[in-house]
Amino acid sequence: MFHLILTACIAGSSEDCAPILLPEAETGTRTECEAQAERIADAWLKDRSGLIGAGTECQPTEELTALPLQQVAPGIHVYLGDPVQMEDSADGKIANLGAVIGEASVAVIDTGVSRAQGQELYAAIRRLTDLPVSHVILTHMHPDHALGTSVFKEAGAEILGHAAMPMALDVRAQSYLDSIARLYSPEEVIGTEITLPDRTVADRDSIDLGGRGLSLQAASTAHTDNDLTAFDEATGTLFAGDLVFRELAPVIDGSLIGWLEWLEVSPKPTPRVIVPGHGAVTDSWAVAIGPQTEFLTALRDATREAIAAGAPMSEAVPQITKSLQDKNDAWNSFSETAARDATAAYKELEWE
Ligand SMILES: [Zn+2]
Repeated sequence: MFHLILTACIAGSSEDCAPILLPEAETGTRTECEAQAERIADAWLKDRSGLIGAGTECQPTEELTALPLQQVAPGIHVYLGDPVQMEDSADGKIANLGAVIGEASVAVIDTGVSRAQGQELYAAIRRLTDLPVSHVILTHMHPDHALGTSVFKEAGAEILGHAAMPMALDVRAQSYLDSIARLYSPEEVIGTEITLPDRTVADRDSIDLGGRGLSLQAASTAHTDNDLTAFDEATGTLFAGDLVFRELAPVIDGSLIGWLEWLEVSPKPTPRVIVPGHGAVTDSWAVAIGPQTEFLTALRDATREAIAAGAPMSEAVPQITKSLQDKNDAWNSFSETAARDATAAYKELEWE
C-alpha cells in the first residue's frame, strides 16, 4: 500500500515544515498514488491558509514513521505513552493510545497530542492491517489524548465522544493549540487541529467492527466532565482513559468526589486487561486503581482537614501538598500536579 505525504510549511517560514499524511490518497501502487497526489494535496491546503505546500511524495507503508505498538490481547494493540506531564515531555506523546482490530474494520482509542502523533498511530495500524479505520473513540477532551484525530477523520472514521465532550473541547481549543505550540517543535505540531466528535454518548452505546463489538460507557464527572470508557467483550479489555492513572500523578479536572465514587463501583464484567490513560497495562483491577484511590482519598481527607481548620486556600494548598509528600516517589510529575490538585480539591470541597 502507498501513502501520500505532503510536506507542509508554515506560510512565511520555509524552515518550519512537517510531513502530512493524507489518507484519502491511499492506493495499491505508487503510480496510482502519484496520479492523485497534486489534487488531494491542493484540496487539503486550500482550507488551511496558514500552511503552504513544499512537495509531495508517495511512500510505501513500511517507510512511514510509525508508533511502536504492543499487542496486549488478541487484536488489541496499545501505544504506551511516556508517563510524565506534558511540560516534562519533549514531544507530548504521554498518553496511552489503542487500536482494536475486528474482522471488518478497526477502532482507535485516543489519537494523541498532535497531527504528527495521529499519523504515526495511523501508520502503525497500517503495518498491521489494510482494514478501514471505522471509528475513533475519544476517552475525554485532554490534548494529550484528543488532538491527533484529524487524520482519522480524513480517512473516513466516525469520531465518538462523551455527550459533554464537544463543548468541553471547543471552549479549550485555542488554549490547547497554543500550549502544544509553546511546548513542542513546529515539526511536532504543524497541521494539528481540533476535531470534534461526530456522534456522542450520553450513557451507553456500542460499535461493531465485524465479529467484535466495543461497548462504550459515559461516566459522571470524575477525571473530567466527559470521560468515556470502551470495553472489548471478546478479550475483556477495558480502555479506561484517564479514569485510571498509573505512574503519572492523577490530575483532577472534573470532580474529586465524583472520581472517588467512580472508583468505588467495580466494572461489570470484571475486565481481564485494563489499559489506563497513562502507565502500564495490567490484568488486575485492584492493581489498576489501588495507588490512585489511595492518592485521591488522602487528598480528599487532607483538604477536608484544612477546610475544617479554617485555612484560606493560599495556606491550605501548601499544607495539603506537604501532607501528600510521602507519595512523591510513587508518582511522576508529582509536585506540579499535587499543588494543582490541592487547589481543585479545595475549590470543590469548601462548599460541602
Ligand atoms: Zn486527561
